[in-house]
Amino acid sequence: MNGSELWVAAAAASPLLSYFIGRLSRAAGLIAAAGLFAFSSFMLRGEIYAGAPYLALFFWVAAALAHSLLLNGSVGEPRDRSALQKSLARAAELEADLVRIKEETTTNAAGEKRSLAVYSAVKLLSETIDPPSAAKQLGKYLADYFGTQEAALYVYGAAGALEPFAQVPGSRGLPSPAELAAMAGGFPSAPVTAGGTVLAPVAAGGLALGLLAVRGADDAEEAAGKLASEIAFALKRVMLFRQVEWLSQTDGLTGLWRRGALDEKVREELRRAAAFKSTAAFMIADIDHFKRLNDTYGHQFGDAVIRRVAELLKAGVYETDFVGRYGGEEFGIVLPRAEPAGVLRKAEAIRARIEAEPFSQGLERVRLTVSIGIAHFPRDGRTPEELIARADAALYAAKEGGRNRVVDAGSL
Ligand code: GH3
Ligand code: MG
Ligand code: MG
Repeated sequence: MNGSELWVAAAAASPLLSYFIGRLSRAAGLIAAAGLFAFSSFMLRGEIYAGAPYLALFFWVAAALAHSLLLNGSVGEPRDRSALQKSLARAAELEADLVRIKEETTTNAAGEKRSLAVYSAVKLLSETIDPPSAAKQLGKYLADYFGTQEAALYVYGAAGALEPFAQVPGSRGLPSPAELAAMAGGFPSAPVTAGGTVLAPVAAGGLALGLLAVRGADDAEEAAGKLASEIAFALKRVMLFRQVEWLSQTDGLTGLWRRGALDEKVREELRRAAAFKSTAAFMIADIDHFKRLNDTYGHQFGDAVIRRVAELLKAGVYETDFVGRYGGEEFGIVLPRAEPAGVLRKAEAIRARIEAEPFSQGLERVRLTVSIGIAHFPRDGRTPEELIARADAALYAAKEGGRNRVVDAGSL
């Protein structure tokens, strides 16, 4: 390569200087390239005067220079020092997103479980024809919904007092209905917390149905309030259902069990007594000469008498005994685990109490008495039919013996 060829190569290569130096600083690269090109041109001046195709070389260099400047476009401008920080910030953002998504997934799963529990509970209460077994199942849904072992639903019973309806299986430590009523201080209009227990009112159409009680659940007030409003109408249906069932089993005049329900109680108690090798007694009480009383003072007075006698019978036995109206002015009483001497004493006390009761019609004092027949399981009979027939026979004997007396079938 002779001298001229070297300078042509140097001039042609000057944009490379612009490019490589320009990686550090575009201005420095441009100056270095322009310098090399000018110097090469100066060295080639003889050739230029001799008419060498210098112009082509010039344009090529100019184009290459421009290209190198473009390639190094971002160099020389203030360097973006925050790029790394930006990346780090973005990574942190993504991580936060990930954590949030994870949390949301967990909450969604919990929320889904809650929604499912609400749906199942409403469906259950809306469709059941067997309130006791629905109550059992509802207890499980309460556990799913609240995620706690201590949750229960109490409802107002026939007598207007709170009674447990459903609770999480195995839950303990929840207040008794009486404590609950005291804690709630009447029927709250919104969920309240008393003594660590959240109480949420359950009401439908302005009718107070009961209380939800929860302990140890997250956001319990809000959750309990929500569940209470969701199940209210379905629960109302169950309670009406129970009421109808109750009414069909109880006697409208006295509030005592009807004959069918009482017969069922006799069957149940005899089964239990047989299983546990214990005893049971059945008592029949019949008002003496009631037909005469009706005829003399009218049916309305007769009804009032029947009601009062029913009260006195109920007051005369344990609360765990079953008192029923057997028909007309005849009453049946089931006394579980009773022994003959005790039952005889009780029957005698009832008889005396009714004899002493001051029934009055207008200014007239009406004297009223009852006759009572008693039979014992297993002594007098092993089946309900046998036992009832023996009690009836004892009653018949009491009537035959002059009325206003008690006869035990064992003495027949
Ligand atoms: P006894 O001492 O033998 O029992 O005489 P009694 O008149 O009570 O005879 P019995 O038990 O056979 O009569 C029942 C009467 O009770 C018949 C009917 O006039 C009356 N009675 C039945 N059910 C009712 C009722 O719901 N209300 C009223 N007021 N009277 C009734
Ligand atoms: Mg009678
Ligand atoms: Mg009778």
